Amino acid sequence: MIFLRCTTGDAFVALFATRRAGNRFELRSVIADFANGRPAGAFMVEPIFHSDDVNTTRGTPTLYTHISEGSGKCLYIHSCANCATKLYVTFERFPNTCGIYSGTFDDPAWFPIGASTRHIFIGGARPYTILPAGIALFHEHAVANDGTEQHPLFLDSPREGPV
Ligand SMILES: [Zn+2]
Repeated sequence: MIFLRCTTGDAFVALFATRRAGNRFELRSVIADFANGRPAGAFMVEPIFHSDDVNTTRGTPTLYTHISEGSGKCLYIHSCANCATKLYVTFERFPNTCGIYSGTFDDPAWFPIGASTRHIFIGGARPYTILPAGIALFHEHAVANDGTEQHPLFLDSPREGPV
């Protein structure tokens, strides 16, 4: 079991990521200024899990509903009620998934970077962003609004973004 917490420790979340056989696990590095909810940073690392594997064990997160400029669907941003640390986000568009704000993990580097890793919204990357080789890159979201999977771009060598 993996744990994450807010800045002050008022809210804890337990993640049962390894319990579920075949659990969909992907890592999204969301590049800045994207249409589905601004990460308030140059980019956001957002591991995705099945919602059933995420359980708040302390505190009652507040809920902010953001309407995506891209899809028109709701993003539900769950934050600590005391210190406002963003903990995780759930999606109207993808009902059984949960994206964790990776900076909240007790060990922020516990998850692997592998075949399920995606970089999305690279079209909004800042000029100083280094896009890696061998990782699936998408100019916008990896899935179009109609549900169509988009074709990734792969670089042969790292390159400063956007591409
Ligand atoms: Zn807090």
